[in-house]
Amino acid sequence: MNASNQNSPGYNKFIELAQLTSGIPASDGDGVRLTRIIGSPEIDMLDPFLLLDAFESDRPDDYIGGFPEHPHRGFETVTYLLAGRMRHKDNKGHEGVIEPGGVQWMTAGRGIIHSEMPEQEDGLLRGFQLWINLPAAEKMTAPVYQEFAASVIPNERLENGGNIKVIAGRTDSGTEGPVKNDYTVPFFLDIQLEPGETFHQHIPYSHAGFLYVVMGGVRVGQTKAILNSRSLGVLGDGEKLHLSSGAEVSRVLMVAGKRLNEPVARGGPFVMNTKQEVKKAFQDYQEGQF
Ligand code: MN
Repeated sequence: MNASNQNSPGYNKFIELAQLTSGIPASDGDGVRLTRIIGSPEIDMLDPFLLLDAFESDRPDDYIGGFPEHPHRGFETVTYLLAGRMRHKDNKGHEGVIEPGGVQWMTAGRGIIHSEMPEQEDGLLRGFQLWINLPAAEKMTAPVYQEFAASVIPNERLENGGNIKVIAGRTDSGTEGPVKNDYTVPFFLDIQLEPGETFHQHIPYSHAGFLYVVMGGVRVGQTKAILNSRSLGVLGDGEKLHLSSGAEVSRVLMVAGKRLNEPVARGGPFVMNTKQEVKKAFQDYQEGQF
């Protein structure tokens, strides 16, 4: 997993930012206000990533409606919470609450019907939902959950006081995240850097990825291009990721996954390879086969 290969074309190349976006305001579920960062007119997708939503509000009206019962087929949904609590419940009897710092990695596969509702009536709710595509051969796999509370996510300490919460993938220092995933061999790191602190990570050439700044700001690559708070930067070609923090503490998510390079047919909550398969998904859902 995530092995580095010195013969790879990008082995010695620094990764620079290829594109910046702060997303667009959107509404989904029952009126939840969010920022759509991937899956927007600016970045339609970043193979294998189909969608990235950020939600952040302390106004109950912005989130209280939640995401009532809806289906998924053909991809994975990753929910990562920074603040607040979300209750998840599906049609197979699976139920749980995601708490701050916790992650739910759901492989929807051939189909799941679930609801995702705020487990709070006031206060701050902040987090992300990421959709990761599944390879054609695995789209109809049985649904699987991987859920980890903050307390069981490895926290690698950096030399100058920062730390990395390793949710998926393996850091250059060898800390491995608990999420198992051979489909896109993903990285999902939550990196906190002290002022002026640097961070290095090797990312295989096969992967596409992005940074999203939760707090503060980071400089990226040899050009030291600045990525500000609540902005996403698409990672360009290369395998050597270098980050440094500015004058303040910074927190940034680094997410990467293996490109699938397969045709994508979208139909709302279903993401397949052909229109025919999307139509079949709607049919199966309506016929109660999920
Ligand atoms: Mn959902």
